[in-house]
Amino acid sequence: MATKIYLDPGHGGSDTGAVGNGLLEKNLTLQIALKIRDILNDEYTGHSIKMSRTTDKYPTLTERTNAANAWNADFYLSIHINAGGGTGYEDYIYPGAGEPSAAYRNIIHSEVVKATAFKDRGKKTNDLHYCVNQKCRRS
Ligand SMILES: [Zn+2]
Repeated sequence: MATKIYLDPGHGGSDTGAVGNGLLEKNLTLQIALKIRDILNDEYTGHSIKMSRTTDKYPTLTERTNAANAWNADFYLSIHINAGGGTGYEDYIYPGAGEPSAAYRNIIHSEVVKATAFKDRGKKTNDLHYCVNQKCRRS
């Protein structure tokens, strides 16, 4: 069975997310998600990918997590870029998420840091909406 990876570029449509230096977070998260999709498809096998959006539109948080659950996603990656409070890349998984979430997060984390040369802010865990509502915590 292929591992199902759900990529969620944050924001979209009328929800721009953070704005700074003439850049909109919604556009950057989409570009990053598409890039991650391409890297995973080019360099790795044994997975399939779905995205919450591939264009500039805004699904609600509940629509995103419902879609991931309906698809039975193993891994949910929500992508955000914060304004202020430092620079760099960090990612979050649910505390105690276990495998395969941790393994996929490690791959994606190192690929993003490599591809962007962003400062590595570390691998983190948190009870975010996505983590709580995504029923991917299988052992
Ligand atoms: Zn955001």
